[in-house]
Amino acid sequence: MAENKHIHHPENDPDYKGLNVNSGIDQPDSVSHDSVKRFLDKKRKVLAPKAYIEGILNGDITLLSKAVTLVESSKKEHQQVAQEIIKQCLPHSGKSVRVGITGVPGVGKSTFIEALGRSITSQGGKLAVLAIDPSSERSKGSILGDKTRMEALSGDKNAYIRPSPSAGSLGGVARKTRETIVLCEAAGFDHIFIETVGVGQSEIAVHSMTDFFLLLMLAGAGDELQGIKRGIMEMADLIAINKADGNNVEKADIAQAQYRNAIHLFPRKESDWDPQVLTCSAYHRKGITEIWEQVENYKKQTLENGYFFRKRNAQAIYWMHETIEEQLRNSFYQHPEMKEKLKVMENYVMNNAMSSFMAAGELLEMYSKLR
Ligand code: GDP
Repeated sequence: MAENKHIHHPENDPDYKGLNVNSGIDQPDSVSHDSVKRFLDKKRKVLAPKAYIEGILNGDITLLSKAVTLVESSKKEHQQVAQEIIKQCLPHSGKSVRVGITGVPGVGKSTFIEALGRSITSQGGKLAVLAIDPSSERSKGSILGDKTRMEALSGDKNAYIRPSPSAGSLGGVARKTRETIVLCEAAGFDHIFIETVGVGQSEIAVHSMTDFFLLLMLAGAGDELQGIKRGIMEMADLIAINKADGNNVEKADIAQAQYRNAIHLFPRKESDWDPQVLTCSAYHRKGITEIWEQVENYKKQTLENGYFFRKRNAQAIYWMHETIEEQLRNSFYQHPEMKEKLKVMENYVMNNAMSSFMAAGELLEMYSKLR
């Protein structure tokens, strides 16, 4: 191979006007099984918590990602390391504004996040975009997980995009996302967006971990058509009617007036914030800064009236209870002996040999003796 370097290529003649030919490079030795194994072991190796913590506090995105993978893992040894990392990161967290963003598929969430996100990062902000995808629970598929989404933001060094944790119940997915917020904040991300699309439950989860809740809607389509429940509208701090461009502008203005009337009928929010209805075009990047101004106004107002941290404290308590419930449920239903006994008891209940209440009582008693 090395001798090839001295072979004369007519294409390299000084008079030649076409492409040059470069000499090839020597091939490495063939890859051995051992070296592949060593490489994979190294890749999979779980480091000591300290290594992740230091990395995260230094803003190392690779170590942040690896720590998030541990948070998402259901393996006990991964969870132990993850919990230690979270504990150490907690004092460095909390210094961000957390925004929940929701809306039906196609409303323009990723286009909107990309437009707003680029404007945040271009002004020196650091943005983490996390997601809670309710589809993963049922179908193991994903509505939000499309890899082509938010291309410009993915290449932005001040942005970190993490798709929804895929396995587990909504409660489990939401808890993992909440823990990921802590790690992202400790890594210096001062803007956190949590995106979701859902049928009610996932919005509630997102609402319970964010400071500001933004609902994206379309003009012209009825609320029912958009699958937006009244309760979701009631949670919104801002409704943005997207795609207000071209011949859609007028329709968007009408929708804006209608939604403004509608939200006036809702009870006053504990935050004392007047929910806003604005129009925007995420695609043409119009109306985006005006929306962000409202998020900043909200933050200022609720910091002044004390609601901002009152809500965060209430959320922390809420998630403590959610975590207890989730872990109790898992430990009950995943226990091999309980699994067996459950089958037996289900049969009894089905055949009217035992009441549901009695069966539950017996199962719980058995469980309390197992532990
Ligand atoms: P998502 O499913 O909610 O994330 O929606 P996407 O951001 O993927 O947008 C769905 C489609 O709507 C894409 O074809 C976008 O280009 C288009 N879209 C998004 N925002 C706007 C907008 O402001 N105006 C117009 N005309 N189209 C938009």
